Amino acid sequence: MPYSDDAVNLSRDEISRIQTTRLRETLERARRAPAYADRLAGVAPEDIQSPADVRKLPLTSKGQLRDGMPWDFLGVPRSEVVRMHYSSGTTGLATAVYHTRSDLRMWAECAARGMLAADVTEDDVFQNMMGYGLFTGGLGFHYAAELVGCMTIPASSGNTERQIHLMQSFGSSVLHIIPSYGLRVLHVCDEAGIDARNDFNVRIIFVGGEPHSEQLRRRIEEGFGAQVSNCYGLSEMAGPGVAMECREQNGLHVCEDHYLLEVLDPQSLEPVEPGELGEVVLTTLRREAMPLIRYRTRDIARVLPGDCPCGSAHLRLSRMEGRTDDMLVVRGVNIYPMQIERALLDVDEVGRNYAITLDRPEDLDRMSVAVELTQEAFTDEMRELTALQRRIEQRLQTELDISVRVELHEPGELPVSDGKAVRVIDNRNRET
Ligand SMILES: [Zn+2]
Repeated sequence: MPYSDDAVNLSRDEISRIQTTRLRETLERARRAPAYADRLAGVAPEDIQSPADVRKLPLTSKGQLRDGMPWDFLGVPRSEVVRMHYSSGTTGLATAVYHTRSDLRMWAECAARGMLAADVTEDDVFQNMMGYGLFTGGLGFHYAAELVGCMTIPASSGNTERQIHLMQSFGSSVLHIIPSYGLRVLHVCDEAGIDARNDFNVRIIFVGGEPHSEQLRRRIEEGFGAQVSNCYGLSEMAGPGVAMECREQNGLHVCEDHYLLEVLDPQSLEPVEPGELGEVVLTTLRREAMPLIRYRTRDIARVLPGDCPCGSAHLRLSRMEGRTDDMLVVRGVNIYPMQIERALLDVDEVGRNYAITLDRPEDLDRMSVAVELTQEAFTDEMRELTALQRRIEQRLQTELDISVRVELHEPGELPVSDGKAVRVIDNRNRET
């Protein structure tokens, strides 16, 4: 019998009922962890009548997790723990996450659901090119692929020649890979005269583990001639499989029977309007070893409106649009540099480099964006340049809801980025 998963067919009402029940259970389990015992003392299970009542519970931050290391967030006896993962995180705050046998099974079920939704079957050969070890990318998908019934190749990351050899020899049809490494593999294939579209048998690729643009996804799709699905996860929530894109590629379905999703304004901590960008906040609903209540992921995304043609009623998240650490508040509006980047990439004439400057002349925030044009687009024709400048300003205004001044530059005129994704110069505090 092929592996199947009924929870993907739950209706909104059923999801809501399940979430309410499991949130109460989570409350009871979390109380057993020293870190939560006092903080949850004032809430009774009867206080939870709907998923929205999660807001009666306290938020949990990465800093609290770190302060509670190694054992304060553990809600079961240590003898019930069968594995731990350890994440250094982007800001260097290392935290451990513990799993019982059941937790590992639930994690595999979440990722397996995403694999099925992207049309993976037991006939597929799955080459897992994510690192195995403390990092959750490798093992998270490994057990999911075995659950689905794929022949699973635990290739791990690196050793590109061997990866290519494995793909050729065993006809790998499904890959799991960090997007930047996907590009690297394509580059090595190019140099070796291998046509990744025709010499391989790859039809589905899962990407995750680092932020990436839609353009990068499309390049990997074209390079391999395969469907590329985005995956979202973080070690604090087990790992990959929290939300994954189905074959429709129109947003990532959250496993809502396992995770309760909120999207909050990172400043006011109130829920944003549906469809608005905000911080992804997640509560585990089934985890035993380390239940986490309203964990602030610091990832920025939005819930996408409407139904998915695949039939799943589980909410869809946009791709991650940035991190709360990158957020700018300009004239009271929350702005994420990724929004600016996306708007600029929509304009064909815009080249690779841009820089955002904020200042505050006469007590009013002002945002300017210096943009390098492509060689082809650059011209001495003043009228054309002014029209292009207006067009870029309008595109930014549509995206950000505030007016932005755009300056155009010749290719190579702006300083080259120091490797950081976000190029923002904020002069506002210096002037006050
Ligand atoms: Zn779908």
